Order: sequence, then C-alpha cells, then structure tokens
Amino acid sequence: MAEITEAEIKDLAKKLVEEVPPDKVDQFEFRGAQFDHGLAFVQFPEGLGGLGLESRKLQTVVDAELRGAGVPYHDLAINPIGIGMGAPVVLTYASDEQKERLLRPMFTGEEIWCQLFSEPGAGSDVAGLSSRAVLDGDEWIVNGQKVWTTLAHVSKWGMLVARTDPDQPKHKGMTYFLLDMESPGVEVRPLHQITGEAEFNEVFFNDVRIPNDRVFGDVGAGWSAAVTTLMNERVALGGGVPKKGVGPIRDLMQVWEEKKETLDPVTRSVFRDKVSRFWMEAEALRLTNWRAREASKSGNPGPEGSVGKLMSAEMNQRIYETCVEIAGAEGLLYEAGYDRKRPEGLRTEGDLTRYSFLRSRANTIEGGTSEIMRNILGERVLGLPGDVRVDKDVSWADVPRN
Ligand SMILES: Cc1cc2nc3c(=O)[nH]c(=O)nc-3n(C[C@H](O)[C@H](O)[C@H](O)COP(=O)(O)OP(=O)(O)OC[C@H]3O[C@@H](n4cnc5c(N)ncnc54)[C@H](O)[C@@H]3O)c2cc1C
Repeated sequence: MAEITEAEIKDLAKKLVEEVPPDKVDQFEFRGAQFDHGLAFVQFPEGLGGLGLESRKLQTVVDAELRGAGVPYHDLAINPIGIGMGAPVVLTYASDEQKERLLRPMFTGEEIWCQLFSEPGAGSDVAGLSSRAVLDGDEWIVNGQKVWTTLAHVSKWGMLVARTDPDQPKHKGMTYFLLDMESPGVEVRPLHQITGEAEFNEVFFNDVRIPNDRVFGDVGAGWSAAVTTLMNERVALGGGVPKKGVGPIRDLMQVWEEKKETLDPVTRSVFRDKVSRFWMEAEALRLTNWRAREASKSGNPGPEGSVGKLMSAEMNQRIYETCVEIAGAEGLLYEAGYDRKRPEGLRTEGDLTRYSFLRSRANTIEGGTSEIMRNILGERVLGLPGDVRVDKDVSWADVPRN
C-alpha cells in the first residue's frame, strides 16, 4: 500500500468509530473491527491487522484519535505481552495460517499471551536455561520449570524457549515454541509480589506435548527469536509516548498540588526543585521516545530500545519515592485492601501512588535489569569491550551449574 497522510489515517479512525460505536459494542467487537480495518498494527500487512505502512509512527495518530473519541481500551492493559511482544514474533516467525489464527484474538484480548523465558537458574543469563524439549515423532515433549511468568494464569498461549540440544554451546541449542497453556502437564502456581498481588507465576511442565508445527524459526535457532521478543519487550516497557504530563509524572504532580501548602518553606523549595527536575526529565524521555518512534521503520527494533527501558524504569522509581517522601507519614499507609489477589491484567490507572511505589521496585528487574540494559547499551550501541563470558563456546552440558 502507498503511504498515507496523517489526515487520511485520522479519517479511517473516525470512520471506524462511526461504523462501530465503542459505547454500543463490547471490547471484543470493537477491537475486532479495529483489527479488520487495519488500525491495530498499521505497519503489519493488510488482512493481518495492518495497512502495510512502512513504519508504525501513524499508529500513534490512530491511538490518539480513538482515545479522543472515547475508546477506553489500552493495548498494555488488554494483552501486554501478546501485543507488545507476541505480535512481532508471530509476524516474523509464524506460518501464514498461524498468523491468521493468532493475531486477531490476541489484539481483541480474547486470547492472552505470556512469556516463558526466565527460570530459577536463568534470568539475566536466559541463554543458560535448562527446560528440556525432546522430539518424539511429530511432537516435542517438554519438561522443566519457568518462573516470574506474568499473567500465565490467564493465558491461552505461551512463548516458550527450551533446550533441544544440550551438547551445543548455550546460545545454539535452544528452540522457540508456541505453547498452548491449556495442554495437559502445564501447571501454573501464583507468586505474590510486594504489592500483595500475584501478577506472575511459577510454571511447571510435566511431559507437555507440543506439535512440531508450533516451532517458531528453526530448531536450535531459538535464541534469535528470543532476542526479537526481548527487543520488543524493552520497547513495550520503556518506549511509550503518552500525552504530555501523563503517566507517573501525573501522580507526582497530583501529590505535589495536594501537599505543597502543608510543607514548611524550606522543605517546599527543596521539593519544588525536585518536582521541576522530574517534569523536565519525564518530558525529555517522552520526546526522545517520540523521536525514536518517528524514526522507526517497520520490522523489529534493535538494542537502542534499551535506552527508554533503562531511563523509564529508573525514573519511575525516583518519581514514586518522591511521591512517598512528599506525602510524609501518610505515604507509609497502604491503600485499603492489601489482599493477595490474582489480577486478570496489569493495573494502569486509579489512585495508585503507594501501590505504584511498591510496584515500581520491579521496573528495574522485569524485561532485563538495569545492569543488563547498561551492558547492552555499552556493548551493542557504544561498541565498548564486552562483558566476560567464559561459557560462550563451551557445550551447555559441560558448564557447571547448581
Ligand atoms: C514484575 C516482573 C515480571 C516478570 N515477568 C516475566 C515474564 O513474564 N516472563 C519471564 O520470562 N520473565 C519475567 N520476569 C523475570 C525477569 O526477566 C528476570 O527477573 C530478570 O531478567 C532478572 O533475572 P533474575 O531475576 O534471575 O536475576 P539474576 O539474573 O540472578 O540477577 C541478579 C543480579 O545480578 C545482576 N547481574 C546478573 N548478570 C549480570 C551481568 N552480566 N552484569 C552485571 N550485573 C549482572 C542483575 O542485574 C541483578 O541485579 C519478570 C520479573 C519481574 C520482576
């Protein structure tokens, strides 16, 4: 398809809202129509939720237009792992039939996705993972354990990386599978976070069978699909372009407005400096992400996505620490209802300051720790000497582990 203008794509979004009024239909019907109109992922091919555009920058225009028309759905709340990471992986690695089967229910939220990478002995060093998959006729049999699996308890599909050749060095003997989470032998157990909620889980595989046509990419080449997932994860976590003043900075401004008159003059001027600095930092990050999105072509992002992930994770923590400091003793009270629930999705709005203070502790761990982001930026963007890697060329089976 030829490139279209901003005005033309706005018209397409308006037409969608007229044809399928969001206040008259449910989430699945509206999002299904959005997908069918090619306004789900504008850079994807026609028929697969897109318009075949060269880059995804006009998706921002569509999203803003729909938000303005009162459409309440947000990709990250509906299916964060599916839409943020699963969709580009499906587009890159799945068969045509699988693309048609998987992308629409992923976008509508009828089928939630999870990411089965981390294990008790393999997090930052995910290539060291131990879950094993063995071919048996035209099926693979999987045994092992994953951990910290966000939303596994509500997921239909899991992106699973497992070891298929232990005699190869660690990066070469892994394969990437699409796992139906309803398969016999998949057991999901909740893990409660500091917030009290169990967004994530442990997942155990006991002789789980996966058909051979659910291998994404080549057998033994799972690392490359895993990297595609991780690069997209970093952009999904840290590459957002919210409206000016929205996101964590809005919470800080709200606390500041509510509390500033209660502070003594010296404390007030110290916090005023801090709040202004955060406002500028948040705006600089927002504009940087915006520029990165404008410059991005279709296809998968590279290591530079780690900039936004690193900056936003660390800034979120500092912003919520400041919210709690400004609130004083009141900041120590947790909102009523610290119950150990298992949420259906990720929380994105509400009076969340104290909740967000606790939740933001995970920001510098999930999707790769800040230390790992700095390693990636140092090595793959700045070209600095690499981290020490003694096991890179040794067969995985010969590397000592607990
Ligand atoms: C809220 C949340 C949700 C998550 N969701 C998922 C999910 O859905 N799916 C999934 O697969 N995983 C998920 N994770 C797991 C996450 O990806 C890992 O926790 C993360 O990659 C770190 O791995 P680890 O916990 O094993 O820590 P480790 O790798 O053991 O790291 C421990 C410490 O050592 C540091 N370190 C390790 N290696 C190096 C190095 N080479 N150089 C410098 N420092 C280093 C780390 O930065 C860290 O401070 C989630 C985690 C959280 C907190």
